[in-house]
Amino acid sequence: MPDRYFWLRCTLCGAEYEATPATYTCSRCGEAGILDVEYDYDYVRARLTRDGLATSRDASMWRYLPLLPVDPASPRPNLRVGGTPLYRCDRFARAIGLREVWIKDDGLNPTCSLKDRASAVGVVKAREAGASVVACSSTGNAGSSLAGNAAAAGLQSYVFVPDRAPRGKLAQLLIFGARVVAVKGSYEDAFRLSMEAIRRWGWYNRNAALNPYLMEGKKTVSLEIAEQMRWRVPDWVAVSVGDGCTIAGVGKGFFDLQACGLIDRVPRLLGVQALGCAPLYRAFRAGTEQWVPEPENTLADSIAVGVPRNPLKALRAVRRSGGEMVAVTDEEILEAMRVLGSSAGVFAEPAAAAAFAGVARARREGVISADEVVVGIVTGNGIKDVANAMKAAGEPIHIPPDLGELQRILGEER
Ligand SMILES: *Cc1c(COP(=O)(O)O)cnc(C)c1O
Repeated sequence: MPDRYFWLRCTLCGAEYEATPATYTCSRCGEAGILDVEYDYDYVRARLTRDGLATSRDASMWRYLPLLPVDPASPRPNLRVGGTPLYRCDRFARAIGLREVWIKDDGLNPTCSLKDRASAVGVVKAREAGASVVACSSTGNAGSSLAGNAAAAGLQSYVFVPDRAPRGKLAQLLIFGARVVAVKGSYEDAFRLSMEAIRRWGWYNRNAALNPYLMEGKKTVSLEIAEQMRWRVPDWVAVSVGDGCTIAGVGKGFFDLQACGLIDRVPRLLGVQALGCAPLYRAFRAGTEQWVPEPENTLADSIAVGVPRNPLKALRAVRRSGGEMVAVTDEEILEAMRVLGSSAGVFAEPAAAAAFAGVARARREGVISADEVVVGIVTGNGIKDVANAMKAAGEPIHIPPDLGELQRILGEER
């Protein structure tokens, strides 16, 4: 065992490795041997306490530094990642038949998605590795967050996206100075090409499933939820699922808090996929870890992942939490976007709204009961994908500048 307070452990064979910045996967198991970061929880417990956090002046994700796998002395990009609001919304809760629903709005991160939490860690690790170029494949948000955080740290980014990516996300990538490769093909095609290019040019690899450090950034959303709820653990936390890194990270956050004695139980995870692309949902329901690739057939682009890259960690996190998975249609997703917007004032992109559509469905199916406390995570901001938002929201009133005309239309609406 190395003398650091964190190290790496293979999720397949259990082999342990020193946590060097560019150790990605298990050398025995190959690409499937995804690594987990393990901590000396006695070390962390002494440094991360409720009282210490209560007086911390750092409002960003870095307030949880003892639970993050970076050298505390490493320079960090100065964007304010994390510290996003958690709202209780009774109107939204009532609309879907629940008593208490909380909305964690991670669309308010610097590049407007939860992925900033992973990319912030990725950029620190890239600098620790001495790299000047970082790269990833992405359905859009991982890339734009990498591009933004890399820009703030003075690194060059290369981002591979399927060419279907919404224009808002492409615009972000380009503005942040990324070299953007829009691949004619699926997310899987973009992933493959990125891996070949990373090998060919030796760039730092920010692909979240393969780089074990990124999930650790994502888990900070759970640390914040627990702290913002004053350590009262909700019954359920709902999150949408594509590759599976996000839900695995959300689970890791709560399990780490439990291991440090900061909470005494872990919420049940509700993993939500789109019915048009739901390989992990189907594997979960079949009770196996075997999944079958699917076409990417949903408007929720961020979770249109036909070949999930982190299936094991995702399925194990949901099962270990005693959780469930559900799948929702595109119509349910658009409806959830509308209800979130109009009852809570929160603008979610389709993949983020999917989590809330999943909560509504789980309630209807009796998976969640009416008096249980639910937190849903808005993983990305709807402003990134205006075309789908308009599908959900409909059209404005188009009229000439004429009060009589307006009166006629508003009168008809009554
Ligand atoms: C990436 C992403 C997800 C899903 O995360 P995975 O790690 O791919 O499961 C969900 N919602 C949004 C908005 C995302 O960008």
